[in-house]
Amino acid sequence: MWQRLKNKIPYVILATLLLAAVFVWLAILESAPGDKIKISFLDVGQGSAILVNAPNNNQVLIDGGPSDAVLAKLGQALPLFDRKIELLILTHPDSDHLSGLIEVLKRYDVGQILETGIADSTAEYHAWNDLIKQKNIPVVFAQAGDIVKMADDLAIEILYPFGKINGRDFSKNTNSTSIVGKIRYGKNALLFTGDAEGNVEEPLVFAGINLKADILAVGHHGGKNSTSPEFLAAVAPKIAVIQVGAKNKYGHPAPEVLDRLKGLDIFRTDMDKDVAFECGLAICQKER
Ligand SMILES: [Zn+2]
Repeated sequence: MWQRLKNKIPYVILATLLLAAVFVWLAILESAPGDKIKISFLDVGQGSAILVNAPNNNQVLIDGGPSDAVLAKLGQALPLFDRKIELLILTHPDSDHLSGLIEVLKRYDVGQILETGIADSTAEYHAWNDLIKQKNIPVVFAQAGDIVKMADDLAIEILYPFGKINGRDFSKNTNSTSIVGKIRYGKNALLFTGDAEGNVEEPLVFAGINLKADILAVGHHGGKNSTSPEFLAAVAPKIAVIQVGAKNKYGHPAPEVLDRLKGLDIFRTDMDKDVAFECGLAICQKER
């Protein structure tokens, strides 16, 4: 036990140091107090895409799914003449998260990008980086402690990675580089973890970081190596949303994960299609 503990002490120290370093970097537009935000888990097939729409029309898109399917979803979700998405977050550069974001970059005016900037040699990731350069979009490399303020009472707080990892090569273990963050609105919180698995969940729990959230975007499409009982206990969500494609070849979501989620309200994009919540400062309600 002590050996395990000792191995993790650097994580704890790093996490504590970095969580103290907070910075805020998104322009805030006026919004009336008490206005609602909308969080939509878009049905993009086997992949992830979460759209946060603030009452001041600031939007954040967290991942874009595996194809251009996200474009039709954005067309429905955004106001008619709103061609600007204030922030794109790429949790990690796997194609079921990245491909759709490339299509979004081509067709929308994007304010800023938050990503890890890890080294990755896929053609898609090159295309993504080329487009960003071509369009001159500011990029911030995520690290714990970053806070993106989107509107009054609405902020995104980054919890992982503990430090910047841009330029580093994770040789195909990209899931372990996933950005983990919390969307906070009034008393509500939603936790997203990309495709993070146990080796990310464990240090987050061990470092004692406040993971509590009403809504959990279930990690790695419900894969069995994510959403450990300890992690789930630390998040203590009421609602779990699984972004997953029907009849996918990975067998997501894993039956054991569904078992661990028992007792929560569970929504799945393969069955429920788009899953959206309207959140006031006090409570979030599922849209019908
Ligand atoms: Zn994925």
